Amino acid sequence: MYVMTAVPEGPTVVPGAPQADASPRDLRALVAELRAICGDEWVYTHEHQLRTYESDGLLQYTAIPAAAVLPGTAEQVRDVVAACARAQVPFVARGAGSGLSGGALPVADGVLIVLSRLKRILEIDLDNGRVCVEPGVTNSAVSAAVGPAFFYPPDPSSQIVCSIGGNVAENSGGAHCFKYGFTTNYVTGLELVLPDGEVVQVGGFELDPPGYDLLGAFVGSEGTLGVATKVWLRVVPSPETVRTLVAFFDHTRQAGETVSEIVQGGVVPGAIEMMDEKAIEAAEGTAKAGFPVGRGAALLVELDGSERECDARFEEVREICERHGSDDVRVARDEEERQRFWKARKAAFAAMGRISPNYFVQDGVIPRTTLPEVLERIDDLASEYGLIVANVFHAGDGNLHPLVCFDGSVEGQAERAEELSGRILDVCLEAGGSITGEHGVGVDKKRHMPKMFDEADLDAFQRLRCAFDPAGLANPGKVMPTPRLCGEVPGIYRQHPLEAAGLADRF
Ligand SMILES: Cc1cc2nc3c(=O)[nH]c(=O)nc-3n(C[C@H](O)[C@H](O)[C@H](O)COP(=O)(O)OP(=O)(O)OC[C@H]3O[C@@H](n4cnc5c(N)ncnc54)[C@H](O)[C@@H]3O)c2cc1C
Repeated sequence: MYVMTAVPEGPTVVPGAPQADASPRDLRALVAELRAICGDEWVYTHEHQLRTYESDGLLQYTAIPAAAVLPGTAEQVRDVVAACARAQVPFVARGAGSGLSGGALPVADGVLIVLSRLKRILEIDLDNGRVCVEPGVTNSAVSAAVGPAFFYPPDPSSQIVCSIGGNVAENSGGAHCFKYGFTTNYVTGLELVLPDGEVVQVGGFELDPPGYDLLGAFVGSEGTLGVATKVWLRVVPSPETVRTLVAFFDHTRQAGETVSEIVQGGVVPGAIEMMDEKAIEAAEGTAKAGFPVGRGAALLVELDGSERECDARFEEVREICERHGSDDVRVARDEEERQRFWKARKAAFAAMGRISPNYFVQDGVIPRTTLPEVLERIDDLASEYGLIVANVFHAGDGNLHPLVCFDGSVEGQAERAEELSGRILDVCLEAGGSITGEHGVGVDKKRHMPKMFDEADLDAFQRLRCAFDPAGLANPGKVMPTPRLCGEVPGIYRQHPLEAAGLADRF
């Protein structure tokens, strides 16, 4: 992970990110073209305007683009991308900028294409369970548009701000993905602007058309294969009933074992979320849900489906919680109380600011059955580093979000916290898991990619990327650990010209 500590006067350069090969004259010509396409008021070039876009939700990385452009239509996006391609200037798509891995970090001297003006819901077809939206529509706006009879299940905690385009690019998840699946399970079609400006449609209204799964390749590609300008989504009928409880335990181990037993017993909760002591403390300070500060773990379990099934299974879940040591099981009596429980869970990330001036949100995956051991190893690592790590996560999927707390004003603490974050990912990998569950690789985790994938895998990824983007203009410097360019010969290591020029590092 690179951490940009101070922002210099000029453009900030992320080490390892290929930089635009364009002279200022080229950029002035390009900016004039962008203004002609989108209108003067939608092209920002002043530093004070560009600072708004210098990072995404991962604030440790910053970069100032040459221009930020806010197209108002898909055609304008196409023309903007085509103009960048002609000028050979790299571009980065940005939705709401809530990403947590630096995916929407601008390229210095590149163009940032902000899609927040494309927020029309284009079609709702509930008979066929489909909606078609522009990429800037927020996640929660989709459920709002099709509710109450239908809903859109992937529900990142950031859902009131994050965009569907960002969700697609990150293959975002959320609390209800354990039962319902991730974004990739709900995208049936995409209109894409390829990095050379060509517009193509992949998939569409129907599920699973024949041919290679290009839709699957694009979902989760983190803006490296092009820009989505239209998204067809599957929506599903809302469940007949929802029952929610929160159980408190003395230890995370008890809560972890409870999760395993619930799932192994064949219960498929709509959501099963865990918070540890520090997360409970932070969330309660903000949400005031009445959660007991000082308890070791809270398990929020939600069942949904038919009334009869929920009633029967709910009692089973309560018994399992009690058998594993919970002496405090609270059942939401009404929708208001249910919303209070969820408010506490969804506030947990932001609420960490109450107990620590700075923190890294980590995102790793482990096999669910290893939860108790892994949580203990994280505790041990936190003690070894003398730092607080709070845990709040999607327990059913084994998708951990350790929040590594530090005080950036204390010399060396940010670096220690970073190192600890990396060690936590190593623990996830040793347990048979992954370096990211839903927040993506972005710029933050690319150095960890070789821990999961060997050279042949990375070369295969790169060949796919080059098939979409031979010029390497779409979100360069993200996801891939080394500055591989299209046409680079796979095989034994040869120093890349960018490395030789001191412009990029090899990890
Ligand atoms: C408090 C908080 C809670 C969060 N909780 C969750 C959670 O529960 N689950 C989860 O999965 N994530 C979560 N996130 C992370 C984040 O909200 C998601 O990754 C989200 O999908 C990002 O959407 P965005 O619109 O903000 O995208 P951005 O951050 O703007 O961009 C993310 C990536 O998508 C690319 N991109 C954006 N739009 C397009 C497009 N139209 N075409 C092609 N590429 C595009 C960008 O280039 C970038 O690589 C959370 C973040 C915060 C701050």
